[in-house]
Amino acid sequence: MSSAGHAVDQQRKSTTMKAHFVLVPMMAQGHMIPMTGMARLLAEHGAQVSFVTTPVNAARMAGFVTAVEAAGLAVQLVKLPFPATEFGLPDGCENLDMIQSRDLSRNFMEACGALREPLTARLRQLCPPPSCIISDMVQWWTGEIARELGIPRLTFDGFCTFASLARYIIFRDKLLDNVADEEIVTFSGFPMLLELPKARCPGSLCVPGMEQIRDKMYEEELQSDGNVMNSFQELERLYIESFEQITGKKVWTIGPMCLCDRDSNMMAARGNKASVDEAKCLQWLDSKKPGSVIFVSFGSLASTAPQQLVELGLGLEASKEPFIWVIKAGNKFPEVEEWLADGFEERVKDRGMIIRGWAPQVMILWHQAIGGFMTHCGWNSTIEGICAGVPMITWPHFAEQFLNEKFVVNLLKIGLEIGVKGVAQWGSEHKEVRVTRNAVETAVSTLMNDGEAAQEMRMRAKDLGVKARRALEEGGSSYDNIRLLIQEMGNKQNASG
Ligand code: UDP
Repeated sequence: MSSAGHAVDQQRKSTTMKAHFVLVPMMAQGHMIPMTGMARLLAEHGAQVSFVTTPVNAARMAGFVTAVEAAGLAVQLVKLPFPATEFGLPDGCENLDMIQSRDLSRNFMEACGALREPLTARLRQLCPPPSCIISDMVQWWTGEIARELGIPRLTFDGFCTFASLARYIIFRDKLLDNVADEEIVTFSGFPMLLELPKARCPGSLCVPGMEQIRDKMYEEELQSDGNVMNSFQELERLYIESFEQITGKKVWTIGPMCLCDRDSNMMAARGNKASVDEAKCLQWLDSKKPGSVIFVSFGSLASTAPQQLVELGLGLEASKEPFIWVIKAGNKFPEVEEWLADGFEERVKDRGMIIRGWAPQVMILWHQAIGGFMTHCGWNSTIEGICAGVPMITWPHFAEQFLNEKFVVNLLKIGLEIGVKGVAQWGSEHKEVRVTRNAVETAVSTLMNDGEAAQEMRMRAKDLGVKARRALEEGGSSYDNIRLLIQEMGNKQNASG
């Protein structure tokens, strides 16, 4: 290029506005955490990011705020007061994990919807003006804001594309309407034969009034300008292509988003302050042989019945393998605390660590001592396990977790099913044991031993872990997608003046 041409180009660049993304997550840990990753990835690639949140959730994000400030990234929090009491929720109830009964989830969604006007007003004041909204599928009303501001809206549902496609077909074909819980649902147009009982499908949870909200979500998804996925091309190319074909929408795979939390402080404070001393936890892991420990954790929302927790503990004990077990029984199930104190902890103290409350999950998973992950198959946990390169034992509870189980076990072939009977719907206090101690013992022993099947799973998991990292390295598929996304949204903004 001539020097005159270069000067013109430089001038154009300096007057070109930086792409400015507004991120509106669903206020639930499994949705907010990947969006903090998304914020960081976009900002690391030069975009400006406004992250919409509320006071209680902002307090949980202290680790994230410190990390982005230390890195000098252009990320700001847009804090809006949450109208909890106006919608019949206790004051300060600002996250799905704080809701006392699932019947209140509709109130929660409506309270979120009431953020529409205050958010629009705040977005009008931002400088530079927003160029794109990326919002959780559940925050359907952000589509209206995007139209009002004349900017694109991209949807994020927090699922992998395999499960997103199944969810889309469920909505499109109204697959769950007038179907009994145990009836088998078939997904027409899905790239493989997929059949599941209704109760194991996302969207099967019946909460009065949620149908209208679901319809709105779907309508707004149809109007949106594309979908952002916490995934990467090499993991599920077929499903990404099918999703684009079937929905007619562009898919931006820009993950795994957890990989942006590489520094140890951020890993430890991810999502919330850990309820365990991280240094002690690392010291404990350092004392174990590489690949010898099984990590057991069921995410932020699943509520496992007391009898089931006891059965799980006895299975872990019987397996004789070292383990870290995250339990969120707390005040809710004092009988579990009593049982732990009544001999169990003493019996396993040389090889078992119990974490009560919030665990630094990624920090643990990525330690070399971890050789297996018993997971409820929330997508974040699943992709964190994939990045760690560890095989899994799948124990889905509800929502799209049964789809993720199929993806991990049948397609990726990096996990084995524990064999859950029934569905432990979110917010329902089931009493019965769905997985016996024998099933736990057998699964742990099978995964952690040297058998051929386990070794093959381990190799495949390691290989996927390498691919996951590559996706975000310079020239990797997600790395390139992030740059293209920023470019495209920046260009749209500049074209519209
Ligand atoms: N998580 C964590 N510590 C915990 C429980 C969960 O760090 O004690 C994180 C986990 O790493 C993941 C998210 O919370 O990023 C949970 O999301 P997921 O989709 O796995 O499950 P959900 O909680 O939505 O069911």
